[in-house]
Amino acid sequence: MKILVTGGAGYIGSNLVDALISAGHEIFVVDNLSTGKIANVQHLLGHERFHFVNDTILNEPLMDRMIAQVDLVYHLAAVVGVKYVVEDPLNGINTNVTGTEVVLGKTYKYWKRTVIASSSEVYGKSTAVPLKEEDDRLFGPTTVARWSYAMAKAIDEHFAFAYTNKGLPVSIVRYFNSYGPRLDPKGYGSVIAKFITQARLGQPITVFDDGQQSRCFTYIDDTVRGTILTGTTPEAVGQLFNIGSNRETRIMDLAQMIRDLVGSDSKIVAVPYCNVFGENFEETRRRVPDVSRAAEILTFRAETRLEEGLKKTIAWFQQAWPRHKLAPGRSDLAGFFEPSEQIEP
Ligand code: UDP
Repeated sequence: MKILVTGGAGYIGSNLVDALISAGHEIFVVDNLSTGKIANVQHLLGHERFHFVNDTILNEPLMDRMIAQVDLVYHLAAVVGVKYVVEDPLNGINTNVTGTEVVLGKTYKYWKRTVIASSSEVYGKSTAVPLKEEDDRLFGPTTVARWSYAMAKAIDEHFAFAYTNKGLPVSIVRYFNSYGPRLDPKGYGSVIAKFITQARLGQPITVFDDGQQSRCFTYIDDTVRGTILTGTTPEAVGQLFNIGSNRETRIMDLAQMIRDLVGSDSKIVAVPYCNVFGENFEETRRRVPDVSRAAEILTFRAETRLEEGLKKTIAWFQQAWPRHKLAPGRSDLAGFFEPSEQIEP
């Protein structure tokens, strides 16, 4: 098939592209390299079944041409990561809402199957465990910038269902804390990448708050497999899926595990949220997906154990980012936030 992957130079996008190229497809990527990196697709440049366009999904004439010529669209381009969104909410809202509007407008025009990437952030601070796709969602006030990301992704989902209502074959994936090779070592949007870099540099590992908050970390191979199954399973059309592992890990335990696997002597320190995000910040304490729908309809289940996925991720970081490229003192990579106290469990 001819397949367009928007955001195909990003962390999830480029891993998805690799899997699709391996499966024999012809791949088109639109990515403006805002957080995506050319290094993620460097090995594919020149490949006869790979075509890369460095541009924004907001470029309507471009998207029109690209979508007209493909059979299937995976729409992953977005401003992602709570930190980026908190830093520049306007850019986040524009890209995440208008970008999806452009993509769906064109897939509707040319009647192309579409998979929309959404996020577990859409559940907000819902305390339901586990989170089912149709559960109520819970958000803080609009004065808290963090929630604009969830709102934008929720609007994307509403757009998708509005087009489903018109018969367009659309599916949605809600990713749960994906991690693996090609994460940004700065760790924006990924605590795992950040802890690995801190541990490798022997810097304090910055556990926010009491470290008892938890996430379900999902290895990239699982994230990609769930995405492809969503785009290829006929019964997935018109459906929304949690794509992730349902094994819950406390952030404090994660910090220890990464420190041990890296073989680091970093201290583990507690950092209050207000030191990082200011006073006006709200956090989601637990986020566990109900994975039964993906299991039933897609026959998908995350398979990679955390220890195994962390080992592969650390190995990739060591090869792609030798320590001298992560030199302490580089303010963009190291010494992320001022710790307040050392905590050891
Ligand atoms: N976190 C942390 N220290 C950090 C960065 C993140 O303790 O330096 C915690 C954060 O509070 C959250 C979890 O790790 O509970 C996951 O954060 P991430 O930014 O990876 O993803 P998200 O919050 O979007 O799930």
